[in-house]
Amino acid sequence: MYAKPDSNTMTTRIARAEDAMDAALKSLSYRLTETEDSRMAPKTPDTARPNGSAPAASLNGMRNDNAPVPAAEIAPEIAPLPASAKRVPEAIATGRPSREEAEAAVRTLLRWAGDDPNREGLRDTPARVAKAYGQLFGGYEQDADKLLERVFEEVEGYSDIVLVRDIPFYSHCEHHMVPFMGLAHIAYYPTKGVVGLSKLARVVDTFARRLQTQETMTAQIADVIESILKPRGIAVMLEAEHLCMAMRGVQKAGVSTITTQFRGAFRNDANEQVRFLTLVRNKP
Ligand SMILES: [Zn+2]
Repeated sequence: MYAKPDSNTMTTRIARAEDAMDAALKSLSYRLTETEDSRMAPKTPDTARPNGSAPAASLNGMRNDNAPVPAAEIAPEIAPLPASAKRVPEAIATGRPSREEAEAAVRTLLRWAGDDPNREGLRDTPARVAKAYGQLFGGYEQDADKLLERVFEEVEGYSDIVLVRDIPFYSHCEHHMVPFMGLAHIAYYPTKGVVGLSKLARVVDTFARRLQTQETMTAQIADVIESILKPRGIAVMLEAEHLCMAMRGVQKAGVSTITTQFRGAFRNDANEQVRFLTLVRNKP
């Protein structure tokens, strides 16, 4: 036997907590929540329930059987979705320029930069850029809320923190269309259900692949998770380096910008914020 240093003990403890979380998530009996159908059903207006609270019958969201829940019964629990969760508005989508117009615009920018779009090395660049935009800005084609629809409804008493940290993301600032990239950390206390961990990463990706500010993106992630999962609390933290700061303007490299959103339990209780930040910071 040997004495472990404190830092290892902490690491081990966190690793165990994560193992336990994984095991808990794997053992969940789950089913589709039929949110697709229920969202299409007429919604009960928010004014119909006092304080916007869920009906008393489903207050704690725990169910003891796997019987399907009629859509009508769960429909009132579905919150109005934030507008940001939706893909690009139809008006903008239909007004999009053609591929040829996009490539012509790239040629214009190449000339504006001072180069010759007709030289050999640049001849295919407009086509490549237009194609790359499809991926870099693919978030406009996705509805973030759809990703969370498969909610693991039953949590079998698991109501402690669910934390997914170090989710890498690449985005572009909306001011300069220059990349910023970093890590996202998301934590929540489940009440009505939890989602597959990779789904949270895809929500981050959906918002990252749009023109963004870091502050807006942090709030959008919190908004969509909040409206679908109705957690008791949610914490979102983004840390990123902005190349528009590193390459132009003040030209400071290695500066990271941190943005946070604390909702519910995390907003009301400073200890919860400390717990979140400790779990995020103490890395193996
Ligand atoms: Zn910028």
